[in-house]
Amino acid sequence: MQQQKKRIAIFGSTGSIGTQALDVIEANPDLFEVEILTAHTNDELLVQQAIQFNPNAVVIVDERKYEKVKQALASTDVKVFTGEQSLEEVAAFDTYDMMLAAIVGFAGLKPTLKAIENKKAIALANKETLVVAGDIVMQKAVENRVPVIPVDSEHSAIFQCLVGEARNKIDKIILTASGGPFRGRKPNFLLNVKRDHALQHPNWSMGAKITIDSATLMNKGLEMIEAKWLFNLAPEQIQVVIHPQSIIHSMVQFEDGSIKSQMGLPDMKLPIQYAMAFPQRIPNNFPRYDFKKINTLTFEEPDLKTFRNLALAIDALAKGGNLPCIMNAANEIAVWAFLRNRVGFLDMTDIIEKAMNHVKFIAKPTLDEYLESDAEARNYTASLIQM
Ligand code: NAD
Ligand code: MG
Repeated sequence: MQQQKKRIAIFGSTGSIGTQALDVIEANPDLFEVEILTAHTNDELLVQQAIQFNPNAVVIVDERKYEKVKQALASTDVKVFTGEQSLEEVAAFDTYDMMLAAIVGFAGLKPTLKAIENKKAIALANKETLVVAGDIVMQKAVENRVPVIPVDSEHSAIFQCLVGEARNKIDKIILTASGGPFRGRKPNFLLNVKRDHALQHPNWSMGAKITIDSATLMNKGLEMIEAKWLFNLAPEQIQVVIHPQSIIHSMVQFEDGSIKSQMGLPDMKLPIQYAMAFPQRIPNNFPRYDFKKINTLTFEEPDLKTFRNLALAIDALAKGGNLPCIMNAANEIAVWAFLRNRVGFLDMTDIIEKAMNHVKFIAKPTLDEYLESDAEARNYTASLIQM
């Protein structure tokens, strides 16, 4: 019997994760087909993708680009939507099987929640969704019996280590971090770092926001919080170790002291295809890790005094409530400002810390309170930067 193709809705199809997911789909036409594609502003790439993959619907969030996209796709039967609200509208469609949540930042939260309510499986790249409202997202996933399969490479590694271990307790997880381009540097160096330097990641090629987050180590902080919700862990069960080669993608230690890891060359297509095809593994011709070529794997402690964003995230993880949400919002604005040379590298940390101290702490927020905390943190942060 021929296998039914999985119908994928890629939210954020024009980004780094989105385009790599389309490469995976293109390489596996018997397994996957594209049902929905969404983009924020990149109309040209969206149109090109729509012509190649012929989805049922596309969203161009930026309303100024709507007519252009509509015209470019006039000879096709692709439905074109626009505006922020339409992301949720198409997430409510019944015609897809899995959402690949690959929008960057807080903007991914509402469409992902809608897909979960719509009982669609989630392949989750958008870690900010769990940082902002992880308790609500995971609770809704349980209620709707929706699998949330991680795409983030560390979490994919942990997820892969946990296959077959459902009855076994996790002692702790060890998230690996490359350390980013400024590993080993001290604050007097970081003071003068500019965006172009920070955008050069040693091991991964990614979108601008996550690349800056990797340079500040905020990315690892967001990932600690993401791991807490995905794997239902206490903060003290989550450890970070710097591993500059990015070959071990993360590890799980069980109660007997045994440690499992998932390894390979750094290539996001692997966790993307694993999440999309789970529980199946699909063959590919990606380059393989060769122990003879990279024969030294090293590990070191993260420098929390220099990379204070990670310390702030550890604090947010421990205190919980709306603090991770506040931190995330302030970080999004701070990174935005850094990318436009409006604030310095170390200013980002000060700004985030101020926002975390300023916005009122709520121990058990409702969804509306998370949304309000996000908005308040953004406004306050923007006022600090005088945007
Ligand atoms: P990116 O900037 O390359 O792409 C972002 C995508 O989201 C684009 O398609 C863009 O059109 C869309 N988008 C941006 N702002 C939007 C908005 N306000 N509303 C609607 N759509 C919007 O980002 P990326 O590197 O692909 O990362 C996507 C997500 O995956 C992030 O949450 C990131 O942390 C996570 N992630 C990425 C990588 C990676 O290798 N790139 C690895 C692990 C996790
Ligand atoms: Mg990661």
